[in-house]
Amino acid sequence: MRANEITGRVLQIEKCSIHDGDGLRTVVFLKGCPFRCAWCAAPESQDSDFSSGYGRTLTVAELIPEITKDEIFYFHSEGGVTISGGEPLMQAGFCEAVLTECKKIGINTAIETCAYCNYESLEKLLPNLDTVYADIKLMDNNEHIKWTGESNETVLSNIRAMSHNFSGKLRIRLPLVPSVNMNAGFIRAAAEFCRSLDKLDFVELLPYHRLGLETYRKLGRENLLANIMPPSREDMEKAKALFKDAAPGIRVL
Ligand code: SF4
Repeated sequence: MRANEITGRVLQIEKCSIHDGDGLRTVVFLKGCPFRCAWCAAPESQDSDFSSGYGRTLTVAELIPEITKDEIFYFHSEGGVTISGGEPLMQAGFCEAVLTECKKIGINTAIETCAYCNYESLEKLLPNLDTVYADIKLMDNNEHIKWTGESNETVLSNIRAMSHNFSGKLRIRLPLVPSVNMNAGFIRAAAEFCRSLDKLDFVELLPYHRLGLETYRKLGRENLLANIMPPSREDMEKAKALFKDAAPGIRVL
């Protein structure tokens, strides 16, 4: 299929982000996610269609010029494009087409994934990716099912496979949510897992935040963590120290 025939469901496009990879980045947030994380800050990204009222359809041919518009910023900051979600792999064919086009014109590429997908689909994207950000949300499978709606077995096996097969930068993120996974048991288990991987660029600890609360209200959806406050800076430092202690040698941000 040609670039003007391949369509994707896009939630939004954010310019000049500094939180989603190296340098200044254009972040393309795609619709659809297989998880329902209780702490999700973008509940409007979860539905694959537009039933929440958010998002639009774009062809690859329409999206690429949006990305290339900022090439000068990528050049000066060593930035590029990041495909995020929702879960990008819910639209694996669209991602593959976008990343292939970006690589052809020399744009640095990254993806942010929950890694809950068919490994063959993920593997097809890897040759056109410079960086993969993958989340580990919970190590205990029952807890993972309780808080995200799905098992973590595929997530962990996909991360392990990437650590073996991916020649770019694999970066792991741990979203830390008080009352859910911000405890020594999870942090140690995640550190042990990271230690066992073949190759890893770094691990990033992400503090829970409450920025999505207003969207839950707009969507008429209940937020189970509405009363949970973000962790303090001290709590994050303690978590970092705990991780470092359990996984010496791994770079932690
Ligand atoms: S994986 Fe991300 S987008 Fe999907 S529900 Fe969880 S936090 Fe939200």
